[in-house]
Amino acid sequence: MTADIYAPEFTDEDAAIAHVEASRWPDQVNCPHCGSTNVHRMAGKTQAGYFLCNDCREKFTCRTGTVMERSHIPIHKWLLAIHLMNASKKGMSAHQLHRMLGVTYKSAWFLAHRIREAMDTGKSAPMGGQGGSVQMDETYTGNTSKRAKSYAKGLKAKRAVMGLIDPAKGHVRAFHVKDVTAEAARKILVKNADRKSTLVTDEALIYRNVGREFSRHERVFHKHGWYVNDRGFTTNNIENFFGIFKRGVYGTFHHISEQHLQRYLNEFSFRYSNRSGRGVSDVDRAALTLKGIEGKRLMYRIPHSDHEQETVC
Ligand SMILES: [Zn+2]
Repeated sequence: MTADIYAPEFTDEDAAIAHVEASRWPDQVNCPHCGSTNVHRMAGKTQAGYFLCNDCREKFTCRTGTVMERSHIPIHKWLLAIHLMNASKKGMSAHQLHRMLGVTYKSAWFLAHRIREAMDTGKSAPMGGQGGSVQMDETYTGNTSKRAKSYAKGLKAKRAVMGLIDPAKGHVRAFHVKDVTAEAARKILVKNADRKSTLVTDEALIYRNVGREFSRHERVFHKHGWYVNDRGFTTNNIENFFGIFKRGVYGTFHHISEQHLQRYLNEFSFRYSNRSGRGVSDVDRAALTLKGIEGKRLMYRIPHSDHEQETVC
């Protein structure tokens, strides 16, 4: 199923509000301030979209308590941005959103980061499990090419990322770490992987001790030129994810500042974990993102480096 970008919720504000209300409150509207369902829709043109809570007497709209709160961007533009970001495999730059939505570059930048925050879903349950496996690997991002501008050049600009994938389910989680160490690996594994799984890594020593905490530790010796070990284990799935992430970084965003790297990782992990190959359509993915808008509000400034780089394209 594909969405038509001329669908009413992308062009008409009333249809957009109805769409968000139906997603947020499928059964009954409840007050974001106190949780009460004893609420009523306010009458009158100037009160359109407003509810009043009969218990706490607070007003609210479908934006209250979500990433859309305090944003002046119309909801139909939010929905279109959510759709576009979910429909493009390599992501969409703030500059492209700025052009397509007719909002300022700065608004587009904030919009995209808030949507990335909404994509940060489903990290609670441990990955893998009895009879299952979890692949772990690390990579570095950062532009070290000769053409890179001086501020984005050199090893200092390299940022470490460690990632996990459950190859049976295709779920990915990726984390920006300061340094690739045994301690960093263990911290991520303790929080995210079921110890009953088989852990699959390359031969790096940082995984050796933590590997003993799992039911099995399978290693693939890349230095021998092997990509599948004797028992058929591989880290190809997580490497494939890193490949997609890097092509997105270099092709779409050109440069990602360290401060915001985690949010881009969330975006790419979300799309990959809910990809069409697993039967999740663009429309389903957008609906899942919309479900994630609640309870997340951010405050941060636009970084100088992102501004410069993203306006190049
Ligand atoms: Zn209330």
